[in-house]
Amino acid sequence: MQSTMMDFPLTLTHILKRAGQLFGASAIVSRLPDKSLHRHHYRDFHRRALALGGALQAMGLAPGDRVATLMWNHYAHLEAYFGIPCAGFVLHTLNLRLHPDDIAYIAKHAGDRVLIVDDVLLPLYEKFRDQMKFERVIVVPLSGAPVAAGYENYEEVIGGAQALVAPRLDENAAAGMCYTSGTTGRPKGVVYSHRALVLHSMASAMGDTLALTQTDSLCPVVPMFHVNAWGLPFTGVMVGCKLVLPGPHLDAASLLDLYETERVTFTAGVPTIWMGVLNALEKNPAQWKLMPGMRMVVGGAAASEAMIRAFDKHNLHVLHAWGMTETTPLGTTAHLKASLKSLSEDERYAYRLKQGLPAPFVEVRTMTDNGEAPWDGITMGELQVRGPWIASGYHELPAEADKWTADDWFRTGDVATIDAEGYVKITDRTKDLIKSGGEWISSLDLENALMAHPAVQEAAVIGVAHPKWDERPLAVVVLKAGAQADEVGLRAFLAPKLAKFWLPEAFVFVSEIPRTSTGKMLKAALRDQYRGWRWP
Ligand code: ADP
Repeated sequence: MQSTMMDFPLTLTHILKRAGQLFGASAIVSRLPDKSLHRHHYRDFHRRALALGGALQAMGLAPGDRVATLMWNHYAHLEAYFGIPCAGFVLHTLNLRLHPDDIAYIAKHAGDRVLIVDDVLLPLYEKFRDQMKFERVIVVPLSGAPVAAGYENYEEVIGGAQALVAPRLDENAAAGMCYTSGTTGRPKGVVYSHRALVLHSMASAMGDTLALTQTDSLCPVVPMFHVNAWGLPFTGVMVGCKLVLPGPHLDAASLLDLYETERVTFTAGVPTIWMGVLNALEKNPAQWKLMPGMRMVVGGAAASEAMIRAFDKHNLHVLHAWGMTETTPLGTTAHLKASLKSLSEDERYAYRLKQGLPAPFVEVRTMTDNGEAPWDGITMGELQVRGPWIASGYHELPAEADKWTADDWFRTGDVATIDAEGYVKITDRTKDLIKSGGEWISSLDLENALMAHPAVQEAAVIGVAHPKWDERPLAVVVLKAGAQADEVGLRAFLAPKLAKFWLPEAFVFVSEIPRTSTGKMLKAALRDQYRGWRWP
């Protein structure tokens, strides 16, 4: 039997149109380089995004051509998020924290034709301009200074453009692309379709995932050059909520000021950001009046239980989530099922610390050498996922095809357990697992246990070669300013909580842990650093 439904494409064009029609008065607040706030509304955003699309069309780009951005989180980047794909082109967000050589490699590999760049980022662009020639370079005058000679001015480009008459797009056409941050190898390009981004937005907005509504004030701290700021600009515009974009100012005080003045109800970022915010709050608890119960999504790396508990004391609610560039990125979120709400406080925290339940349409399984692992919360296996917003390959990298199984499961490279309730708990990245005497030790569990110690600011645990046990865990610890702790004390603190063979063999104290461009602990660098380590 044939359905009698319309063949109505799932495209961002609809989201943009709806935003202009229904939510013209919703605000978009952006922090500028000089720290002042730029304010405009969806009606301006809608008009300007269409003008950008029209201008790009007039430049003679063909459907599917890539337009790169090198930008912080602000109003013009949001315009690019919609103006580019709604005109049939592909939004390619470049990661401004990468080395200029890597940015050039990625832009070349993607085949970008046009670049839109913040004026304050021109010095970065100029470091790689000889390696990557864009046909047009359009500069956003964020700082208010005149645009340097030789560049096109974004405001003039859109000011002189005919508004886009949005073409009817195929929902499977490419809308955007992001490269993985290369924590584990050369960056790889993931190409998102309109359909994937739309379905991802709908799933993200749902009550048991991110629960975003028109009444929210949404502040994505996660950069718009990192997995589309976790899709939040798309989801936020779809629901029509206020957007608060922090520009280049990601320090704790700037964020907290913004949360207060813009009455932010929902924010998202990696644990490093939250560690800074928490420190600032603990030092000056009375300085900021935040919205009670403000939700904070923690993802990109594991949240610690200590952090979740500490924010609860400030009436700020951490929601732990897991995802990857290849998963657009929403994979799992750690909400408590109704049936678990009567558990003891400690048990409830144990659930909130997990990465959570898969979103609707995301299927998960963990695989061991002996096939699929049982959902027992104990057996570790490689996490595999599939669904309508999970990548099925990388842009022009056929050699990576072994990341997918014959029946379409994507091998995440993460090791996880799944419990009987369906909660996924990431125990490690495959490359970070520690194998001691034939048994796996989870570095994430060890780090979480260490970070519960009052003197510990953060900790990374790596496996280092050991003559007897193959590998043993070495804990690399950063203490809180002015706090004291030593190896004996930390071991005694961990001992009641962990199996004996899990206890770190040694501890080293450092002032900071190396990080990737997206703020994750760079364990590969630590392993290099401690390669010649001699066990006491
Ligand atoms: P890269 O792979 O270059 O680090 P991604 O941003 O795609 O870039 O990173 C995805 C990875 O980040 C996941 O595979 C996982 O290892 C890690 N990750 C993401 N969220 C979490 C989380 N909540 N807990 C633990 N690890 C996480």
